[in-house]
Amino acid sequence: MGGVQIVSTVLAVAVTAVAVALVVRAVRQMLAVIRLGQPDPTRSNDRGTRLATMFRETFGHTRMFKWSVVGAAHWFVMIGFIVLSTLVAGAYFEVVNPAWELPVLGGWDVFAFVTEWIGILGIPAIIVLIAIRLRQRPSRTSNSRFAGSTMWQAYFVEYVILAVLILGFLIRGFKVANDMFHHPAWATPLSHALGAVLPAWPNAITITALIKILVSMAWAITIGLNVTMGVAWHRFLAFFNIYYKRNADGAPALGALKPMTSNGAPIDLEEADPEKDTFGVSQVEHFGWKGLLDFSTCTECGRCQSQCPAWNTGKPLSPKLVVLSLRDHAYAKAPYLLAGGGKDLSGDEKGTAEQLANVNVLALAEAERPLVGGAAELGVIDPDALWSCTMCGACVEQCPVDIEHIDHIVDMRRYQVMIESSFPSEAGAMLRNLENKGNPWGAPPNTREDWTKGLDFAVPRVGETEEFEYLFWVGCAGAFEDKAKKTTRAVATLLNEAGVNFAILGNNETCTGDPARRIGNEFVYQMLAQQNVETIKESGALKIVATCPHCFNTIGNEYQELGLDVEVVHHTELLAHLVKTGKLTPVAPIDGGLTYHDPCFLGRHNRVFTPPREVLGAAIGAGATTSAGGGTGIIEMGRREERSFCCGAGGARMWMEERIGKRINVERTEEALATGAKTIAVGCPFCSTMITDGVRSKGQEEVEVIDVASVLLRSVKPTPTA
Ligand code: SF4
Ligand code: SF4
Repeated sequence: MGGVQIVSTVLAVAVTAVAVALVVRAVRQMLAVIRLGQPDPTRSNDRGTRLATMFRETFGHTRMFKWSVVGAAHWFVMIGFIVLSTLVAGAYFEVVNPAWELPVLGGWDVFAFVTEWIGILGIPAIIVLIAIRLRQRPSRTSNSRFAGSTMWQAYFVEYVILAVLILGFLIRGFKVANDMFHHPAWATPLSHALGAVLPAWPNAITITALIKILVSMAWAITIGLNVTMGVAWHRFLAFFNIYYKRNADGAPALGALKPMTSNGAPIDLEEADPEKDTFGVSQVEHFGWKGLLDFSTCTECGRCQSQCPAWNTGKPLSPKLVVLSLRDHAYAKAPYLLAGGGKDLSGDEKGTAEQLANVNVLALAEAERPLVGGAAELGVIDPDALWSCTMCGACVEQCPVDIEHIDHIVDMRRYQVMIESSFPSEAGAMLRNLENKGNPWGAPPNTREDWTKGLDFAVPRVGETEEFEYLFWVGCAGAFEDKAKKTTRAVATLLNEAGVNFAILGNNETCTGDPARRIGNEFVYQMLAQQNVETIKESGALKIVATCPHCFNTIGNEYQELGLDVEVVHHTELLAHLVKTGKLTPVAPIDGGLTYHDPCFLGRHNRVFTPPREVLGAAIGAGATTSAGGGTGIIEMGRREERSFCCGAGGARMWMEERIGKRINVERTEEALATGAKTIAVGCPFCSTMITDGVRSKGQEEVEVIDVASVLLRSVKPTPTA
């Protein structure tokens, strides 16, 4: 071994020892922080399915590929990182002796071929990612998805990858030049091309290998010193975050909300003990451990932010910034918690003065910050951000590492509503109406059946009819709101026309509790939900059809926790089935100047994208052999289906004023109007209200906002004026 090799080896070993020590310390820190979270026994079931999901999502990049260019580039970079790590290991042999190779794999042509091509494709892939980041950097793009991300960390990670790839080829090239590389040119073309121009100097291999090790260890030291550097740590944490996601089968955390838990167990509000049980989250350590793993895993990619309707209309809410704020707070507060500090449920300090004596002042100061509070109180999450969320699910849908934003937001809302009574005051009337009248409008409960008046057939009530196939869940909007009542009447008429045996609960129906649950009032939700579950069970219903996606979601996905086992369909699904089976025949073509808005709780939360389009397509193309253009004839908006843009009413936002930024419904309406369609079809009474308001605010009253059922009714039973 020559002098160059000796010095290089000593340097490589010394730097590697420092890097390993720092990374081990960081991993221990991270584990300690994640363990501060509450227990969550629901995350370890069905291990085989979880493993399959993890491999599918990581190696198949199923979520990353929602954005195809970035997804493809990231796939090569990820595979490159894994495979080329072995070449970094090989560099340790090369600093000792330039002719040495990685044992076993190093001499294998297939390995040389695979690594060569992963490297060749990895270089343009990482350049694409760097270019995208540069092009979309916050200083250049006003609404950058990277706004609020720590840009230097991402650039650092990306340039390190690029450097390691280039250095790998240089080592091979020098080996070729020094006749120390015995893999064929067809398998390693770039290495041989470089070898033809590089000088024959063996020490160049050692020095380049040393630089490669130093660059790699600089990366390791940097992440060892920055435990919150999610853009780097996600390479390791994403596997675990995906494995432990809420749904073992890989479905995103949409649809049902995570049940409220205390100390890891679902909380029975009738038996809850305010001295022992937590109601929602008021301290970062009250999140489950998976929440803390979520916060640690965020890559700061900003996909969630780019899709968020609140962020896109100038609200202070970004799902990414919520996650990053919680992460930074958790790690800053951790020394205090790990020393035994923490507040009990009455807000008193649990840690003794002795325990807290050695805690650094920054951690002590962090511990004093309220989790939710304005700038003056140094709150971690701004209340305006917390209350801006529509629970549309766009963030959860887009997150490549399966962070469960909505569950965390609703957990913080629960504490604010149930313990602090702190929420937008205008929503108080809605909650009082739910408690007193069983509907958010406060309408007299005995007027629930008024929509049936004037129909030319009798709508059967449960109890009056012996047997029925579908329980028609009308919903509060469908019973009390004028426009939604038209949808209710249209659906009843179509079901009657198709000969479907259905019945309604009439005055025995009450609100499903969706707005109460999503604002955070689990008390009111459970009260209403239990009442409904009993009523539905007593009715003997096995199938329910609902017109409101919020009712559809709550009964179908959330009442299972309360022991209800029924099949729930949205009216557009049932109508699509009736059209397909010839029970309903559209005869009058509807003007094809029609666009469709996907309601979040029907589409993204419950994946019902096609049936409403089938119904509309049948109505538009009634009487024709094929619909216009061979498709459905719908003029689609750019943001549709799983990337649909919220109307602004979800998450109980329907009952709150929208004082900050542009109105979300106006943003969505502008998109719908830009299609030029004269009809905007919807499948949700709340979307209908919001988009109708949007159309009015734009002075375009000639554009009609109408439910899918009413469109179909016009085609099936055209009136002379229609
Ligand atoms: S659920 Fe929708 S509104 Fe709420 S943070 Fe996510 S993207 Fe934004
Ligand atoms: S999409 Fe997920 S990983 Fe990306 S910034 Fe948002 S929370 Fe973080």
